[in-house]
Amino acid sequence: MKLVNQQLIKNTNLKLLYNSVFENRGISRAALAKQTGLSRTAVSALIDELSERGFLYDSGMGDSSGVGRKPNCLELCAGNYYVAVFGWEETSVHAFLIDICGTTAMQERLEKASSDSYARLCRSFLTGRILERIRPEQILGLCFVLPAMIDPEKEEVFSTTFPLDNDQGEAGVLPFLRSLFSDYAVAVLNDTACCAYAEKIYTGIQEKDYAFIQFSRGIGASLFIQDKLLGQACASYTQFGHFSISPEGPPCPCGNRGCLELVLSEATLRNRLLEKGTTSSLLSRDAVRYEDLGRASLYTDTAAVLVIKDLARELALALSNLICLVHPRLIVLGGNSVSLGPVFLEEIRRCLGETGFSRMTGGVKLRYSQLDSYACYNGAMKYFFDTHYQFTATMNGSFFIG
Ligand SMILES: [Zn+2]
Repeated sequence: MKLVNQQLIKNTNLKLLYNSVFENRGISRAALAKQTGLSRTAVSALIDELSERGFLYDSGMGDSSGVGRKPNCLELCAGNYYVAVFGWEETSVHAFLIDICGTTAMQERLEKASSDSYARLCRSFLTGRILERIRPEQILGLCFVLPAMIDPEKEEVFSTTFPLDNDQGEAGVLPFLRSLFSDYAVAVLNDTACCAYAEKIYTGIQEKDYAFIQFSRGIGASLFIQDKLLGQACASYTQFGHFSISPEGPPCPCGNRGCLELVLSEATLRNRLLEKGTTSSLLSRDAVRYEDLGRASLYTDTAAVLVIKDLARELALALSNLICLVHPRLIVLGGNSVSLGPVFLEEIRRCLGETGFSRMTGGVKLRYSQLDSYACYNGAMKYFFDTHYQFTATMNGSFFIG
C-alpha cells in the first residue's frame, strides 16, 4: 500500500514538472522548483528521470544573468511518445497520431463501409500504418473519440447519430474495444469534452469555472467546475442540448419537448427566414446553414440579422439558467456556432445583461472558440496524457471510460 502511494506521489510530481515545462518551454530547474514548490533536489532527480526516459532534454541554452553556473533550459522531446486518436463519425474514422508535445505526425480519414466495424478499422490502421512508423512502446495510449453519451456505470454508449451494429451494439462496444486493444492503454471519450479540454489548454483559459458549448449535429456542453471536468469526458452528466426552452415546443426523440438543439437546429432556419417575410436569395437553397445566415448578416441582410437575433435570444435563455446553476466565469461557443458571426455573440451578451440574474450573469465572459475542427483530437491526446497516463505504472491493458 505504501509503495502504491509513493508511486502515485511520484507520478503526480513527474506530471507536474512535465506540464510546467509544457507551459513554460525553456524553464530552468531552479525556476521549476520555485514554481512547483518541490525541493531543488527532488526537481533535479525527477528531471533526470524524465530526461533519461526521453520526455525532456536540457538544451543548455538558458539565459545567464549572473555569475556562476549557467542556468539550464528544459525543453520537451518531440518524436518520442505519441497518443493515437480515432474519431468515429457516421461514415468514416479520423485517425491521428499525435506527439505528446502536440504535433500531429499522421492524419488520415478512413472511409467506413456500412458493413465495417469501427474498432476493426482502427485496429488495422494501428497495425498496418502506425506501427510501420513507430514502435509499440512509443504509443502511450489510444483514444476513441465518440459523438455520444458514454455511461461509465452501465458501460454503455448512447448515440442517435452513428450506428454500432458491427461493433456489438451500444451495450457491447466498450467490452469489444477493451478486448480488441487489450495490449494498450485505452480511453473512450466524448467529442465535446475533448474540444472543451483543447480550448482550455491551447488557448490558455485561466477561469476555473468554464463552460464550453458545442454546436455540431446537436448541441453539447462540457463544464469545468473548480478546474475539474464535470463527470469526466463522458457527456453523461450534462445534456445541455436537451434543456427545454419551450414546454409547448416540438417533441424531441429524447422524450422531452422544445429541446434547445431541436429549436435552434439548422433545419429550422428556412422557416424562420420565411416568417420574417423575406425574399432573400438564401431561400433558393435546399438547406440554410448557420454559415449562410452569418455571411448574409455581415452584409446587413435584414432577415438574416433578425433570425440570428432570435436564435441568440433563445440560447441566452438557456445560458442564463446554466449560469444560475453553475456560474461559469467564461462561456466559449464552439463548432459551427462560430459561423453565426458577431451579431449572434453581441445579441447573446445583450440578452444576458437584460434578462438574466444580473448578479450572476454580470461577470460572465462570452467568446467564440479560437481553435479549428481538429481541436478535439489534440484535446483527446492531452486529456489522456494529463488525466490517465501514469509515468510510474504499467499502462497496457488499462481501460478508461471518460
Ligand atoms: Zn431532447
